[in-house]
Order: sequence, then C-alpha cells, then structure tokens
Amino acid sequence: MALGCQDPPRVLYLASELAPWMKTGGLGEVARTLPESLHAAGVDVRVLVPGYAPLLEAFAQVRVRCQIAYPAGVYPALRILETATSTGLPLYIIDCPQFYVRPGSAYQDTQGADFVDNAQRFGLLSYVGAMIGSGANPLPWQPNVLHANDWHCALALAYLRYRLEPRVRTVFTIHNLAFQGLFPGDTLHALGLPPDVLQPNGLEFWGQLSFLKAALLWADRLLTVSPRYAREIQTPEYGCGLDGLLCARGEHLVGILNGIDDRAWNPATDEYLIASYDASCLEAKSINKRALQGRLGLDPRADVPLFAVISRLTHQKGLDLLIEIASAVMALPSQLVVLGHGEPPLEDTFCALAANWPGKIATVLGFDEALAHQIEAGADAFLMPSRYEPCGLNQMYSLRYGTPPVVRGTGGLADTVVDASHVAPGSRGANGFVFEDFSANALMRTMARAVNTYHQPECWQALQRAGMAQDFGWAAAVDRHRAIYSELADVTPGGAQTDLETASRKA
Ligand code: ADP
Repeated sequence: MALGCQDPPRVLYLASELAPWMKTGGLGEVARTLPESLHAAGVDVRVLVPGYAPLLEAFAQVRVRCQIAYPAGVYPALRILETATSTGLPLYIIDCPQFYVRPGSAYQDTQGADFVDNAQRFGLLSYVGAMIGSGANPLPWQPNVLHANDWHCALALAYLRYRLEPRVRTVFTIHNLAFQGLFPGDTLHALGLPPDVLQPNGLEFWGQLSFLKAALLWADRLLTVSPRYAREIQTPEYGCGLDGLLCARGEHLVGILNGIDDRAWNPATDEYLIASYDASCLEAKSINKRALQGRLGLDPRADVPLFAVISRLTHQKGLDLLIEIASAVMALPSQLVVLGHGEPPLEDTFCALAANWPGKIATVLGFDEALAHQIEAGADAFLMPSRYEPCGLNQMYSLRYGTPPVVRGTGGLADTVVDASHVAPGSRGANGFVFEDFSANALMRTMARAVNTYHQPECWQALQRAGMAQDFGWAAAVDRHRAIYSELADVTPGGAQTDLETASRKA
C-alpha cells in the first residue's frame, strides 16, 4: 500500500515497560513520557505494552478490541485491550495472563532469574506490534509508523519481513546496546520464524539467535538516546560486537537526548519532599538533607557533603570504582547513600560498607520511587561513574534538584554534564564534575574536587543554579521524533533493503 503524500504520522509505540506500572530503569520512564509528550504535541501516537498485573489492575476500565489466535498455534490466544492514561494517551494492552501475569519484574522472577520463556513472551509482543503494522491489522486504527524499543520489541522487524505484509515504516530506539536478546538458535521454531533467518546476514550472532539484530538490520531508522552514545556504539570499545553493523547503518542512526518528566521531577512541586525549593531558595534543600539523614540513620551533619547513588547495581554502572575508594572517600570527609538493587555481590558489598561506617554510609536495597526523590533533594552531589551510559536520567534529575553530578564522561553523561574546571563555576555551562579515565584514581580525584568546591559555598551554589536553570524537558526530542515520523509516513514501505545488504556484509 502506498501511503498518501501528506499522510500525517500515526505511530504505534511498542515497549516492554511503562512507568509507573512496570519500570526497571530508564526505558519504562521514557516509554511513558515520550509518547505522552508527543500526544500532547498533537501526534497520533498509541502505545502497545504487555498486560502485566499492575497494568491490568490500574486500567480496569478497558474496551476489548479484538481476540487473536496465532496461526499454527505458535503463540497463545490473546486479547487486545484499549484504554488511555490520565493524560489521554491511548494505550493498547496485550491481555495474555499466561505470559505476562506472574510475580517478579518484567523479565525476572522474584529470585532475579530470567523467565525461561522470555523469547516467547517478547516474541509475542513483537508479533502483535508487527501484526498491527501489517495487512493483518486486527484494529480499526492503522498506524503508518511502528516505533519499537530495545530487544524485546526488535523481532517485530523480522515478522514484518518474513511473516506479514508491512503497512508501516519503522523506527527502532536502542536504549542499551548491551541487552541484545540472545537465545539458543533453535528457539527460532518456537517463534514461528523460518530457519534461514539464522545466518550471519540475518539474526545469527556467534551461533545464537539475536532479537536485536532484526532491528539493526531492518528498521528504516535507528535511534539511540544521546548523540555521544550514537557515536560510541559505532566503535569496537562500545559496540558490543555490533559496531560493524551499526557503522554500516550510520547514515540512518541518530542520537536524540532523552528528556525528563519535569512534572514528576520538579523540586518546587515534588510531593515526596519535606520542603519544596527552587533556585531562588536553596536553603530549603538543607531541610531535605536533614530529613534524609534522619531517615537513613546518618549523622546530622551539615558541614560534610552527602554523595548519593540511585542505580541498578550492575557492572555497567561502574560502582566497583566507588567500592575501591570507599575508605578514602570517607576520609574526605563525606557521607554516602546508596539506593539500588541488582547483582548480589554489589548489594552485599554496599551493605557491608554501611555496617563498617555507621552514621556515614547508608545502603537501601530495593526499588523505592519516593526515596529516590528524597535522595535527589537531600543529597549534595550525585555519583554516576558508569562504564557506559546510553543517556542516563538520574544526572538530569540531579541537575534539576541542585545536586551537582559527578560523572564519567561517556554517552549521555558527556552530553549533559560540563565539568566545573572547564569554565569558571557558574559561568555558562559548568554544572558538575566529569572524569574521563575509567579508574578509581580518576573518580577519587574528581570526588575530592567536588568536596573542595562544596566548601566554597559561592562556587557550589553557582554550579547548583547553573544545573537548575537548564531545560531537560521533552520539547526538543518531540520535534526531532515528529520530523522523523513525518518523513517516514510520507513514503511507501520497503526502503530498507539496500541497508540490509550493506549492513549484513559488515556484521
Ligand atoms: P538505567 O535505565 O540504565 O537503569 P537511567 O539513569 O537511565 O538508568 O534510569 C534509571 C531510572 O530508574 C531513574 O528514573 C532512576 O531514578 C530509577 N531507579 C533506578 N534504581 C532505582 C531504585 N533502586 N529505586 C528507585 N528508582 C530507581
């Protein structure tokens, strides 16, 4: 089908998480706030997500749009439910309890083990998205752009190529290249895809089946979540073995910095805070610090800086560097709060550090939205020593909350944080502290600089105000997305063939 010349974009946005109902990190946050911002700007965008229990409970008022049974019974029968968020963003929910209603997170059971049927669970999400974007669309609404996110949705591109007749152009956003959706090659049968897909020019990756490759090969446009990360993933250091393929797609690969939800993350209106504040009354921030110290059992000291971490505790986040220098950091002197969950050895070590330094280090394991807000407001400085960071949201929240970030200069961190030494603090741009080498020494030197600056209140406040004055809203990203959608909606499906041939040779 040729789409009309002036066809306005109608976008089906496909994601495996949707905050606040299902969120394991930045993806869930972005999957709600970007479509909501696009919708508010007048774009006809609708979101398709799996029907996890919290979503089914939150949206009891739904309309059953259709029932689907996959031919040959590869997938269980399901229903598509239609509803809308409180801002009016249309939502399609895949009602398939057998796949999506179970204890744990979107991907793992309560013990932290991946669900054994994740290939099928997210193969189904991909399939339903592809179906809506095809001639077999069961809905009365026909998108002309399919925007899929991360490996969980990537197989939609394979279904559109091998199983269904496309009626859409496609956009795919890489939120984190390290998560590729790799499964044993014979999983292909359980996904209803033909065996010849599993070859180097297709979805084969070192003998395994890669969901992600489907999108990297066949999406019309590839996006990622910051300009720096878009460049980094085309290098061997950050390319996770896919840099050749990404270089080949370089012409169609763009980095667009994520925004933040500035209604939820605004210290002037944040309902989780003891005292609200803005750049004109930073004194109120110290009330939040005292309350946080009290809640966490930290010494009630105003004269030492309180550093904070809110993070998945994983290798990516580089917190092993912080563990290495913990004694020296305490000697600065300073305090530390860590809120996170993830790899058990990291969890155990941060608990041990808190036990070793009572009153100085506090560790809270788990996912706690309210505490995350209170930490952003109550801490003095925020730590992100990441090995790589596609965009990062927490450094932007920190800037907004007058909590200067101390970050490694990679990905979105490099795109949003400007080191205090590059320009005089408070002059245009400087808003935090950046180090380049991934080393404990570099982190230590940078934290020491931060402590030094903390003890010069005028300089510190100038840094705080510079960060708080920045605009991290979604407007710029909305404009860029709308332009890409409009460009794609104006042309006939099927333009990615030449990319496939070029890219596959280099993969
Ligand atoms: P990533 O997506 O790699 O986990 P981001 O910085 O992009 O990192 O996004 C992390 C998001 O998850 C932020 O909104 C952050 O506040 C939130 N978050 C991470 N860990 C926790 C936690 N333990 N409790 C509450 N919120 C958390």
